[in-house]
Amino acid sequence: MPIKRARETKPAAPVLAGNGKNLVHCALSETNPWEGALSQLDTVAKRINLDPGIHKYLRTPKRILMVSIPVQMDNGSVEIFEGYRVQHNLARGPAKGGIRYHPGVTLDEVKALAFWMTMKCAVMGLPYGGAKGGVRVDPKKLSLKELERLTRRFTAEISIIIGPNKDIPAPDVYTNSQTMAWIMDTYSMGVGHSEPGVVTGKPIEIGGSLGRNEATGRGVVYVIEQAYKELGWNLRGATAAIQGFGNAGSICAKLLSTLGVKIVAVSDSKGGVYADGGLDVARLNTLKAEGASVANYKGPGVTQITNEELLESQCDILVPAALENQITGENASKIKAKLIAEAANGPTTPEADRILHDKKIILLPDILANAGGVTVSYFEWVQDIQSYFWKEEDINNRLRELMIKAFQAVHKISTTENVDMRLAADILAVQRVAQAIKLRGIYP
Ligand code: NAD
Repeated sequence: MPIKRARETKPAAPVLAGNGKNLVHCALSETNPWEGALSQLDTVAKRINLDPGIHKYLRTPKRILMVSIPVQMDNGSVEIFEGYRVQHNLARGPAKGGIRYHPGVTLDEVKALAFWMTMKCAVMGLPYGGAKGGVRVDPKKLSLKELERLTRRFTAEISIIIGPNKDIPAPDVYTNSQTMAWIMDTYSMGVGHSEPGVVTGKPIEIGGSLGRNEATGRGVVYVIEQAYKELGWNLRGATAAIQGFGNAGSICAKLLSTLGVKIVAVSDSKGGVYADGGLDVARLNTLKAEGASVANYKGPGVTQITNEELLESQCDILVPAALENQITGENASKIKAKLIAEAANGPTTPEADRILHDKKIILLPDILANAGGVTVSYFEWVQDIQSYFWKEEDINNRLRELMIKAFQAVHKISTTENVDMRLAADILAVQRVAQAIKLRGIYP
């Protein structure tokens, strides 16, 4: 069965008349991730005739904790940072979701990311609800010691709501396995014993899982492979552009190139490069390891490009792997890729979605495409609880199995309901969460 390129249901008509409130809502949904997330939920609710009570339930995060984090800086001064932990929904199990350090973090962004975690865990069939955390900080301006103090104090502040049976953080933008080690240690000091299951994405030596570091990029590649198979297209010789060369983007580039895909463009926060003849991924990784930007990559036929130009570059596969709201109503019409795999969370605005649909570009949505990370995080948590660790080969095989199973479940809905892959994934997720809420009932 071919993958549906078209959203059969008409998108909700834009509200152009009426009170100013509606106009603000429309404008916000282009830039405010939470507004975007709600509009996504509303579309599904309408499509599946979701019980109005459950719809209301899902429109509101379960728990929001906002904390101020005092940090003693190396020069003796004190800085205050704002941090958040949002648990969107816990009907399917303890909350799961990463922690992001970025100067642009807002509560609405964290709420949206927590909502997408609820959806992602449901699409993958993992026994988790969704959460997310964030600290508004530019981590590049902090020393390692300052970052450690920030992380430990943030952990202490949110320790009242996290725990291996309550809410299990993981890495996200500008946090990594070292950050998770500090969180695990701080939490363990508080409870009086080692508690590796409180976070995932830890170093292997203290209860991390083999394969976790590569899991998100690997999962993206598994779904791209599966989509190409369904479409009857040949992946070998295809070209790809990747925005963001961090954990998700760089691994994706490496694994795609091993499958014979030519990586023609990459970028990071400083800018990017494009080369018709392809870029050497190993050399890009060396640049990053040296602390340089991929924009410093030099070679014959290599041109410097901006992040905006990367999105519009000539390629078959586009992988946004940086931040949200990158593909918008402004640039969607200029995208040339025939398939987009969302490694990042929420990189496409609802308006852009409609344009991509009209252009018949196939989109593998974030809650499916980048779910490899949370899936291996789940494996890590299971291993920690059992204190029994699996081989990397077993982990990658189980990841492939779950990614393909989720892809097929989404694809089936896409075919039977005649909707695109985003709406199909959203339908599957909301149906699963709604069923859990219904079965558990509303307490008391
Ligand atoms: P990371 O910190 O390892 O890398 C982020 C990359 O994005 C860096 O190369 C950075 O330079 C680049 N970047 C930052 N701002 C940018 C901008 N304005 N334009 C272009 N590039 C920019 O983060 P990551 O873990 O790879 O996460 C990337 C995305 O993938 C995020 O949306 C994250 O939520 C999502 N994601 C990550 C995981 C995971 O396991 N790491 C799992 C699921 C989803």
